[in-house]
Amino acid sequence: MFSIEYPAVAVAGSTERFPVHRIYCIGQNYAAHAREMGSDPERQAPVWFMKPADSVVPDGSTVDYPPRTNNLHHEIELVVALQKGGRNISAAAASELIFGYAVGLDLTRRDIQEELRKNGKPWDPAKSFEQAAPISAIHPASDIGHPDSGRIWLNVNGELRQEGDIADLIWSIPGALAELSTLFTLAPGDLLFTGTPSGVGPLVTGDKLSGGVAGVGDINIAIGSARKA
Ligand code: MN
Repeated sequence: MFSIEYPAVAVAGSTERFPVHRIYCIGQNYAAHAREMGSDPERQAPVWFMKPADSVVPDGSTVDYPPRTNNLHHEIELVVALQKGGRNISAAAASELIFGYAVGLDLTRRDIQEELRKNGKPWDPAKSFEQAAPISAIHPASDIGHPDSGRIWLNVNGELRQEGDIADLIWSIPGALAELSTLFTLAPGDLLFTGTPSGVGPLVTGDKLSGGVAGVGDINIAIGSARKA
């Protein structure tokens, strides 16, 4: 039988790697971004979607420009990495599940997403393609604590594109994990992309992205050309 390589993410300050089980994502979790997407940011049930575990890409990579889009968008996000799981977790107990935090990019084929949204269809082709989840090394909570405020930002080619503060998450991390655990059984190795601040926009071949979350870490990737085969 063939063998496959299981996806994993680097752990800052360690040779250990964090094995990825599932990647959960929240959509429209900052009011200003919800508005720019044409939604009402009043608190409501979160928009949940998933990316395949093998869509993770390490910091420092060049990502292939994906097929079937002319409008690949950047979304800088704080990412939560779980070391424990469970169901029906209370918000008060949610921090105990968290191994650490990273900075990720929820790369999105926006033209495909807009078409799907218009027709009330699932987002998978817009969000769940290969290399759609670049992610920095995971910084253990034992080193950095549990951040609940701090600047989140993204520069493209040295120019500021996205900026916000993780204190402005509509669904806080404990609240989001509690809600998520009523829908799915959370497990060690799960990642949660917590949503992006306003300022999303298109990427082109040759772009250099540099983003971060104060008190957590940063990520640097480049956009390459379309893969030929
Ligand atoms: Mn997102």
